[in-house]
Amino acid sequence: MNHERSGDLYDRALSVLPGGVNSSVRAAIEPYPPFADHGEGGHLIDADGNRYVDWVMGLGPLLLGHDLPEQVQSEIQRHASAGPMYGMPTEIEVEHAEFVARHVPSVEMLRFVNSGTEATVSATRLARGYTGRNKIVVMQGSYHGANDSTLVEGDVDERGPSTAGIPAEFAEHTIPVPFNDPEAATEAFEKHGDDIAAVLVEPILANKGIVHPVDGYHETLRDLCDDYGSLLIWDEVITGFRVGGLGCAQSKFDIDPDVTTFGKIIGGGFPVGAIGGKSEIISQFTPSGDVFQAGTFSGHPVTMAAGLETLRFAAENDVYEHVNSLGEKLRSGLTEIVREQAPAYTVAGTDSMFKLIFTREGPADVSDTCSGGCQQDESCPRFDYCPKTGADVAAVETDRWRRRFWPAMKEQGIFLSQNQFESQFVSYGHTEEDVEETLAAYREAL
Ligand code: PLP
Repeated sequence: MNHERSGDLYDRALSVLPGGVNSSVRAAIEPYPPFADHGEGGHLIDADGNRYVDWVMGLGPLLLGHDLPEQVQSEIQRHASAGPMYGMPTEIEVEHAEFVARHVPSVEMLRFVNSGTEATVSATRLARGYTGRNKIVVMQGSYHGANDSTLVEGDVDERGPSTAGIPAEFAEHTIPVPFNDPEAATEAFEKHGDDIAAVLVEPILANKGIVHPVDGYHETLRDLCDDYGSLLIWDEVITGFRVGGLGCAQSKFDIDPDVTTFGKIIGGGFPVGAIGGKSEIISQFTPSGDVFQAGTFSGHPVTMAAGLETLRFAAENDVYEHVNSLGEKLRSGLTEIVREQAPAYTVAGTDSMFKLIFTREGPADVSDTCSGGCQQDESCPRFDYCPKTGADVAAVETDRWRRRFWPAMKEQGIFLSQNQFESQFVSYGHTEEDVEETLAAYREAL
């Protein structure tokens, strides 16, 4: 493959954009990232004209793939040419909020913002304002965006910022606990319960290789929040309208969070976020309450149109059947390959998410392999080796992924997330042929 033009663009980018990019993970692979030119269905064409089967899908938002259906495109264009924004409320914001509230069990009311980061920032402020407490419990190694309250590492006893630029005193208010460890969460509440405003957790850790909850874990967090008067915030920025279909992951796991953060799919490919939940809590945002929240672009008509029409299209067509069935084919195909070629690796995912986890946990020569689409099933032969926390996955072979595996897939025309911790996503634009081509490439690359 020729990557000359991407190389030239990267050289230019380096002098005007830090690291050559506007989001760190885009340049995780050396020597430089391919620059995108356009998309077609489940495929992406780069600046040199190379075609890839694209399993990144914009890091999750593109549920329908790169070719938006006519009904989505025409609504985007109608709203883009009508203003395109006003600094006034519009009907489309109300319609979008009504759609989400109708389908997501715990959501009665929501506030739209412009990114998943903004959603988790506002949700933590809301929880602090609502409870009058300061501390937030998060999962070690989880990702909730570029949020000063969640970029924290350590444990219940000692913690600090995980990046330069966040005051240590600030990080003191965030308590990281290991995912899937009910005792650690209980201990955090025993020590700090009266100061804990909220637990912020993804239903499935989707930025750490995909780690599923063990049985009863979310129920424990729900009970702890109820017992101590803290809020349970589910971050469904990735899982929202992907896992569990239109009801989101909370309908699949049958858990009722107090607050849910959304992003990605609900903007149909345009910048978006939202904080949803019970009216009593969400109405604490200004102007009906006293927790300040505002944004020039929030509820932007073009974003609202793209997101709402995407969700309507998904409701009226076989979108979830299609993406989930291809997801299942990818996970079972990968499991077969792993069984033959790389038994120590784990295949994880659910619905339209899939991931091969390069874990060093466990023996490399086991004959029993992961049963596929890891759901923390205790009867699976690899249950003990399947990652339970974000930290388990963080011990993976970064170099092997970045220097060998990812480039080997790319050279075969398969585009995976550049960061080895992130999930891959199936879209409505993908086909059975894309799945076959991808599995053949995995076989070769492994
Ligand atoms: N929360 C989760 C679970 C995410 O995966 C992300 C981003 O990937 C965010 C929040 C932040 O969203 P954004 O990148 O739109 O700010």
